[in-house]
Order: sequence, then C-alpha cells, then structure tokens
Amino acid sequence: MLRDLEPVKLRPGPELSNPKLYTESAGRTPMSQYPDARFIKSANALSQFVADTGAEVAFAGRSNAGKSSAINVIVNRRQFARTSKTPGRTQLVNFFHLRDEQRLVDLPGYGFARVASSLRHHWADLMADYFEARKSLCGMFLIVDIRRRLTDFDRQMLGFAESVGLPVHVLLTKADKLKRGQAAKAELEVRRDLDGVASVQQFSALTRAGEDAARSQLEQFLDGNDGR
Ligand code: GDP
Repeated sequence: MLRDLEPVKLRPGPELSNPKLYTESAGRTPMSQYPDARFIKSANALSQFVADTGAEVAFAGRSNAGKSSAINVIVNRRQFARTSKTPGRTQLVNFFHLRDEQRLVDLPGYGFARVASSLRHHWADLMADYFEARKSLCGMFLIVDIRRRLTDFDRQMLGFAESVGLPVHVLLTKADKLKRGQAAKAELEVRRDLDGVASVQQFSALTRAGEDAARSQLEQFLDGNDGR
C-alpha cells in the first residue's frame, strides 16, 4: 500500500518567502526545550539510517501542508527543518537529534504526482523500509492542512501506521487561515473521519496556537506513552 504513494516534485524551500513564520512571538524568550537539537543526516536507503536505538518520532505530511513550519515551531528553532528542504534532500529521510537517544525524523513530503515513476517507486520503497524497520519509532505526527482535511495519501499513511501499531497525532495546521467556527467544524469532521485511530489538534505556525499541546504530545511519544 505504502508503495503506491506518490512523492513530491523537487522544489526549493518556501521559508524565505514568509519570514514571519520563523520569528518568535514578541516578548517570548526564544528558548528551545531542545537546546542540543541538530541535524544528524539524510538517508536515501535503509543502510544509511542512523542506529535504531532510543526513541524517535516521525513527521509526515503532504507536501506544502506546513510540516517544516510545524517542526520549527515545536522545536522552537528558526529554519531548523530547513535542512531537509535544501534541493536534493526533499526526497530523503532526515534525522534530527533532539536529546540523547531521542530523535525527530522528517519524512519526505508526498502528494504531487508529476515525477518520474522510478523516483516515485524509490520513494515508496524508502518509506516502506523506514516504517517496517524502525524499532525506535514510537509515534507519528501527521501534518494536515486544516483547509484540505484528510487526503488519500494521509489515509494511506494512517492505515500503515495502524497496521504496525504506531500511534498517530494529527496536527491540523494553518488553523489561522480559517475563522474560529470554521476551524472547529473542520476539526470535528476530521475527528469523526479518524474515528479514534489518531488524536487530533489544531495548530498554527503563524500564531503558534497549539504549540504547547503539540510539544507535550511529542514528549509523550518519546516517553513511550501515546497519550490516548
Ligand atoms: P511543508 O512542505 O509541509 O514542509 O510546508 P512548509 O512548512 O514549507 O509550509 C508551506 C507553506 O505554508 C509556506 O508558504 C509556509 O509559509 C506556509 N505555512 C506553513 N504553516 C503555516 C501556518 O500555520 N499558517 C499559515 N498562514 N501559513 C503556513
């Protein structure tokens, strides 16, 4: 199933086009809960993955859903996930050190079909290898644009996570793009749709709404508690 998913076409990271998203809110001390956070490496094959010890949480999402922006807010570092957007790295599995034996893994975005099928297959194999192999994987954040609801690709990722018993937390991001009532309606619809297979919350990288809840869910995953 995973192997049927389609990868994104390569494109430059859009971060620089909207620097507002990467500035800490006024009056906020720009302190990270992860002062030692750093990029470890990108992997293009199972053999290149970092040692499978400790705990790691994967971030997945349709391309352009807001995954990099969400990671940057949660880790509280400007342009942290930007590394994974540098041309050539968008289709790779990017490992980040959070703390000793705790990692965040930025998975390649998916959702655009106009790429060579060889690349598409390689991507799908890489994803399948990742999910099937990683013993340290203890949770997945699925980043969904609140205006788009769940896409077929998201459903496939959810199905796969469920089949390997992986707890999932859905971040309905870009919540600032909807009025409060519309956002609440969207959240309710997604909740109904998910039918208990994942927890869900609203999030905005722009206003930082939901950042504490997201971080606490990340911590629960890393501590081996899925919080459900
Ligand atoms: P990725 O491809 O999933 O990593 O997506 P990015 O994090 O690069 O975000 C894609 C686009 O959406 C960029 O132009 C971001 O500035 C924008 N974006 C991301 N998160 C938010 C958000 O919470 N609110 C708003 N208004 N824009 C966002």
